[in-house]
Amino acid sequence: MDALQSHRVEMLSIAVALVAIGAATAYYFYVTKKPKGCLDPENFKEFKLVKRTQLSHNVALFRFALPTPTSVLGLPIGQHISCRGKDSHGEEVIKPYTPTTLDSDVGHFDLVIKMYPQGRMSHYFRELREGDYMAVKGPKGRFKYQPNQVRAFGMLAGGTGITPMFQVARAILENPSDKTNVRLIYANVTYEDILLKEDLDNLASNFPNRFSVYYVLNQPPEGWEGGIGFVSKEMIQTHCPAPASDIQILRCGPPPMNKAMAAHLESLGYSAPMLFQF
Ligand SMILES: Cc1cc2nc3c(=O)[nH]c(=O)nc-3n(C[C@H](O)[C@H](O)[C@H](O)COP(=O)(O)OP(=O)(O)OC[C@H]3O[C@@H](n4cnc5c(N)ncnc54)[C@H](O)[C@@H]3O)c2cc1C
Repeated sequence: MDALQSHRVEMLSIAVALVAIGAATAYYFYVTKKPKGCLDPENFKEFKLVKRTQLSHNVALFRFALPTPTSVLGLPIGQHISCRGKDSHGEEVIKPYTPTTLDSDVGHFDLVIKMYPQGRMSHYFRELREGDYMAVKGPKGRFKYQPNQVRAFGMLAGGTGITPMFQVARAILENPSDKTNVRLIYANVTYEDILLKEDLDNLASNFPNRFSVYYVLNQPPEGWEGGIGFVSKEMIQTHCPAPASDIQILRCGPPPMNKAMAAHLESLGYSAPMLFQF
């Protein structure tokens, strides 16, 4: 009887050991198979420009190849990269940019860049041709996002400030287990200045209950149905989630807009933990 008992214990121990070995092997394969990111926070790495698509007279989409077709950039949601180039005098310039692609887009990353006539890095991007390499370092940024960390985000974007918002909104909406609502107000000077409009409108029609975008223009075309002028307190009240401990308002725009938005938000009763500026 004792011998039978001890045999049973032995068999059980072997079974437990086999399960443990199986789990460890599965974990090893998961960890080693999981694609690693291509960025280095300490050193610049070179990436090849494989496609340049002009989107308007001063905006272009730059597609950079990653080392292999299955590589991912490895940029956490809401963070950005530092790009290094040379200005028109040959001096080094380093500026932050947020890719519009996510780690679900393998083999490449995209930057949507607005090029200003006198801009130093703008000059570098204007001159950059397919086949050229650009030096990139990262990830960088204070914003950390976990799915469902808030009930809703309000987003106040101006001009190229749309790129971090677009990245965060895409990540939320494309994750089936993330239930966060996203309410975006996007300000520009003219209709032609609106970046990623088709992509934003697609998000709004694909996720009507979870994503909305309200465009505001300083110089609207005739028959414009969106907002007019600068983003006002009333627009924020109508189009963003009301102050609450489980919401957050993100803002990214030119410094005067950020300053004006901070004042509006404070007077509407949003407290510091509810606010984040990229
Ligand atoms: C986190 C973060 C992410 C960013 N992501 C992007 C992105 O994805 N795409 C992108 O295009 N930019 C992005 N930017 C802005 C970018 O970093 C540069 O500031 C921008 O490209 C201008 O750099 P520049 O060297 O060409 O111009 P600068 O030499 O700095 O400026 C020269 C002149 O250009 C004009 N100018 C520059 N910036 C602005 C502006 N915002 N509004 C109006 N006029 C301006 C002004 O006339 C200015 O005097 C981001 C910024 C931050 C902080």
